[in-house]
Amino acid sequence: MSTRREDNRAFHGGGHEHQTCIEDALARADDVCRERGVRLTPLRRRVLELVWGSHRAVKAYDLLAALGDSVGAAKPPTVYRALEFLMAQGLVHRIDSLNAFVGCPQPDHGHSAQFLICGDCGEVSEMNAASIDRAVADQAAESGFALSRSIIELHGECPRCATLPPTP
Ligand SMILES: [Zn+2]
Ligand SMILES: [Zn+2]
Ligand SMILES: [Zn+2]
Repeated sequence: MSTRREDNRAFHGGGHEHQTCIEDALARADDVCRERGVRLTPLRRRVLELVWGSHRAVKAYDLLAALGDSVGAAKPPTVYRALEFLMAQGLVHRIDSLNAFVGCPQPDHGHSAQFLICGDCGEVSEMNAASIDRAVADQAAESGFALSRSIIELHGECPRCATLPPTP
C-alpha cells in the first residue's frame, strides 16, 4: 500500500513484521522478571503474548476467549490475576477509557505513560515524555495534590488513518 507512511515510528500500522514485536516483548518480560526474582508463569507469559497480539488495546474477555482455545478452561479470575501481575510489573498498561490492556514497550523502568489512541483502527502508541510528567507533577504539587499515578489518554487518528481516503 502506497498510502502507508513508514516515517512515523510511534505507530506501526498493518504492514510490519509484528512477530518481532511479540518476541521482543516476551524476551524483555523474561529479563525483567528474572532480574526482579518474580515468576513469569506459562499462563502469565501466554496472557502477555496475547496482549501483544496486536498494537490495539485488548479487552479481558477477548483474552479469555483466546485462552479458552489454547489452555482449555481458563477461568476469569485466573486471567485477571495474570493481568494484575503483568500490570504490577509494568509489562502491561490498562487504558481506562477503553477498559482494555496494551503491552508496555519499556517495562524495565517505572514511568507514567501517555497514550495516543486511534479512534479508527484502535492502535495505541505509548509516549513517555518526561517533560509532560514533570509538568503534571509540578501542577499537581502546586495544587497541594498528592499524585499517586498519572495516565494520560489522548484520542485522535493515527498517521495511517489520518491519510487514508474515506471509505465510500
Ligand atoms: Zn508490532
Ligand atoms: Zn509503559
Ligand atoms: Zn489508526
